[in-house]
Amino acid sequence: MSFVRNQIKQLARLCFYGLGSLKRPSKIPVLMYHSIDDTGSVISISTRVFKKHLQYLKDHGFETVSLDEYFNTPASQTANKVLITFDDGYQSLFSQALPILKEFSYKATVFLVTDYVGKNAEWIIRDQQIILDKLVAQLAFSKEEMEAEVRKLKELSKSKLLSWDEIREMEKHGFEFQSHSHTHPFVSVISVDEIKFELEQSKSILEENLNKKVSAFAYPYTDCNHPQVTELLAKIDYQGAFIGDQFPRGNHIGSNYQIIRLPLWEESTLFDLAFSLSPGYHWYKVCVQKIKSKLGKNQPSTGY
Ligand SMILES: [Zn+2]
Repeated sequence: MSFVRNQIKQLARLCFYGLGSLKRPSKIPVLMYHSIDDTGSVISISTRVFKKHLQYLKDHGFETVSLDEYFNTPASQTANKVLITFDDGYQSLFSQALPILKEFSYKATVFLVTDYVGKNAEWIIRDQQIILDKLVAQLAFSKEEMEAEVRKLKELSKSKLLSWDEIREMEKHGFEFQSHSHTHPFVSVISVDEIKFELEQSKSILEENLNKKVSAFAYPYTDCNHPQVTELLAKIDYQGAFIGDQFPRGNHIGSNYQIIRLPLWEESTLFDLAFSLSPGYHWYKVCVQKIKSKLGKNQPSTGY
């Protein structure tokens, strides 16, 4: 992005943040993290920066909510509340996030890939070409930058994922576990039957192992681009589903089946965090979406 374009973008974000600070959010904001590690990948955050984010929340009087509270808090009581989520279930959540969240007396929701519990994040290797084409290409501009991103993600794919014992231990300390599918596919490239399998299988494995009802889904790669996926989610008794920071499509604006989350990683500044917590963030996204559709450009529809 050119320097001038970047400056305009920052100024617009500041203006929307200022406007947003005058109003209470109508919905509880949702933060999206993945792994706590030092690889520098686009889905990694170091313990140092993660702690800074939580300290910001604490200093500004934010309380974390459970999923149940997220879905049932009336619009008049959403101020200073936030839902913290983690996708994929990296083992670093047990070794790093758990002690930090305990220190701050915060809770969080983790979306697990049930076929990979206790294994490694091997879907990154399985899907590397599609990740490169659909995702990394949106972020990196040169061939070298793209290769560097892929290298970091491959490094991350060797990371251990949480085991059932660690998951049960974390449950005792305020963590909730929900579905991130059974095998972490892009839903836009699989069939209706395959999506149905992913939703049903992950739900039943989680419910069997944790003895609790599973009510939420996070789209793998934040890819919700399948015409029947929301219908299936409702049919299989999911109460809500989470995307990334892309704008929901058509009649899904405000829907519980395309809930926006702000992806945060090592490079996210405290302003990025503050902005994502402000109602101005939603207005900014609406405005960007309108400008893009006027110019005939679509926003990236997937993330990690
Ligand atoms: Zn994921």
